[in-house]
Formats: sequence, C-alpha cells, structure tokens
Amino acid sequence: MSDATLPPTEILQLPNDQDATGRTFGDEELALLKQVLENGCLISTKGKVVQALEKEFAARIGSKFAYACSSGTSAIHAAIAAINPEPGDEIITSPITDMGALAPIVYQGAIPVFTDVDPRTCNMTAETIAARISDRTRAIVVTHLFGNPCVMGPIMELARTRNIPVIEDCAQAYLATVDGRQVGTLGAIGCFSMQQGKHMTCGEGGLVVTDDPDLARRIFLFINKAWGYGDKNPDHYFAAPNYRLTELCGAVALAQFHKLDRCVHTRVSLAARLTGMLKGLPGIETPRIEPNAVHTYWKYAPRVDATVIEGGSPGMGALLKERGIASAPRYIVKPAYMCQVFRDQVTFGNSHYPFNLARPEAVNYDKSLFPGVFAGLEQVLVLPWNERYTEEHVDYIARSVIECATRLSKGVA
Ligand SMILES: *Cc1c(COP(=O)(O)O)cnc(C)c1O
Repeated sequence: MSDATLPPTEILQLPNDQDATGRTFGDEELALLKQVLENGCLISTKGKVVQALEKEFAARIGSKFAYACSSGTSAIHAAIAAINPEPGDEIITSPITDMGALAPIVYQGAIPVFTDVDPRTCNMTAETIAARISDRTRAIVVTHLFGNPCVMGPIMELARTRNIPVIEDCAQAYLATVDGRQVGTLGAIGCFSMQQGKHMTCGEGGLVVTDDPDLARRIFLFINKAWGYGDKNPDHYFAAPNYRLTELCGAVALAQFHKLDRCVHTRVSLAARLTGMLKGLPGIETPRIEPNAVHTYWKYAPRVDATVIEGGSPGMGALLKERGIASAPRYIVKPAYMCQVFRDQVTFGNSHYPFNLARPEAVNYDKSLFPGVFAGLEQVLVLPWNERYTEEHVDYIARSVIECATRLSKGVA
C-alpha cells in the first residue's frame, strides 16, 4: 500500500443518499401522506395509494401486473415462493449481491447455487450460469449489478432451452433497459427495492412485476398471508407471511415514483459526464456497458488496474477518502457464500436445512470455481452516485479520481 498523500484542497461535500442532501422528499410526498392520514386508512388491502402505485409502476415498466411489498427482500421472497421450489431444489444466482436476495431462497427450502461473474462488470453471464445448471435447477435469479444490465440475450436463450424461469433482481437497476425493454420484464418476474439508498425510496419497500397471471396470483397471495381476497370461498391457501406495504409508505413511494424518470435521467447524464472526463486515464476502466443496454447508475463502479495503480482499488479508496469521497473498494468485500450463514449453514435450529438436502457440487464454494468473482471484487471501486449531484460535484469527483490515480501511478502504463 502506498503512503502517498494529496496536496491540500477544499473538500466539496457531496449529497448523501442517507439523508436529505441526497434524497428528493418534498411537498409531493407530504401531500400524499396528508391525504392518506386524513382518509384514515393505512392498510393497503383497503386503501387506494398502494394500488395506484402498483398500477402506475406496472404501466411504466410495461408489465401486466405489479405488487408492492415491504422490502426488496420480500419482493425476492414472493418471486421465489411463486416459483414454488421443492425442498432441496436449486436456484442459481450471483455471490455478488445483497443478502436480501439470498435469504429468501433458503427460507423457501431451496439451495442458492452461486455462479462466477464476468470480472469486468461483476455480472453473471450465460456461460457462468450454464456451468452451474443441474437437473435440480428450478430458477435463475440474475442481478443487474450497480444498475448495469446483465447480457440478457444469451441468458434468456439458455433459460428458454432448459425451460428454467428467470427472476430479475432490479433493486439497483430501475428503468435500465436491454434492446429498449425494461429490465424486470425480460424474465418471468422482476423484483425492485425501495430501501433508503435505492433510486426511489420510502425507507423500506419493494415491488414485484410479472406478465404471467399464475405467477401474479401466487405473488399476490404470498404477500397477503395467502388469503384469497375477493374469492367466493376464501381461505389461507398455503404458508405465507404478511409482506404488505402500508399506505403511509405507499404515499411516499408513489410521490417518489413520479420523480423516478427525472432521477434516472440525471444519474445517467451525470455518469456520461464522468465517463467522458475519465476516458483514457491509465489504470482506470470506466463502466463497461453493452451497446444494446442502458445502465441507470445506482452506483458508478469503475475498475482499477493494480498493475498500473499502486494499491489498486483499496489504494484509490483510501486516497479518495482524503477528498471526502466515501467509495466502497471491493463492494461487499467478500463473496456471499463466505458469510457465516452459508459457510456454517446456520439456518433452522441445528438442522442445516435445506443444505442437508443439497448435492455436494451445489454447495462447493471452492475458490477455483470463482476466478471472476475474486478478480471482479479485487478491482471494482464503487463510487457513490446521486441524482442530487450537480456538474460541479461530478467535476470534483473526476478531478479527485484523476489526482489519486496520477499520484498512485506506477508509471508503467
Ligand atoms: C437492496 C437490494 C436487495 C434487498 O432489498 P431490501 O429492500 O434492502 O430488502 C436485494 N438485491 C439487491 C441487488 C439489492 O441491491
């Protein structure tokens, strides 16, 4: 690690998505909240606001059905439950994701089977998925990491030929597109998160979209204790939690949804500005986007080449901190399967269920299977990104990255 320091400069405070500086709450959210409170109904089974959110979101994404729920985690859970795996069935997914995308697989009795990723994007690919398919595979959950869509053509082709449903985790990829189509509508089910730091937020919340009426029915039921609302002889049809979004959260979410296009547009155009300014900087590779895709920048995640830059991504991160830029070198730091829950199979009592049902190959976490994961995490530098940035903020980030990269340059480029 280098002990290089930077010349003193004025630190520019960046908008932060954890407080008001980096969020867009205002009169629109307050007006809808007021309306809900005055109306007096805070539960979505009777209220109108969550319903409006679902209807408008489905229309914008271009899906037949959308259901709001209490988190991105519950969105993924509803999607897995809709697929209805048998205990011990396998669900293929990425080890570079949020735990909220993985715990639901285990709760539904299925085995998460982790793929390698393309180290250039940290996204899973048709090739890395194909390597983990078995006759127990019940679904594939693809993660459009940082807002950058996976290369979906070959993934959907593979899934079609093997007849395996694809769930898209779009928590970080609102309004991202492939061939002009919204992510979330390419596979069988799309899942979104409205957690504090996402493109649109009500603190905690989620959305699930699908075109398939049978999956839609199961998603709706799973969010609602599997109670058959509106049926002639309703019953609790299967084991399911209450994952509903309240009308209070729905009010904030609906107002936020009305700002989503603007938010995404700003994030994308500011990212293009940064990319333009970093182009050709030795040791820094700007985000790699497929020509048919639109990346919507939950984060701006360039790659740092440690053969060119002393200390690589962590070196850059440490130095950027001196400029007040709180990046996340290595993103989640370690692949998800190295977390205790998977390493020690800590689940229900001492049963290790469902891992006690797993094929040994499905829970083989040997390092040699994941060269792209380690290379990707080693190299990625996750810069915070925000719709409240101005060009001045972006220019400051660009200047800081250039200064840091130059200071740490080994001069071999
Ligand atoms: C945020 C996130 C989730 C989980 O969403 P929560 O709302 O925090 O439960 C799942 N997957 C990905 C990729 C995420 O970024």
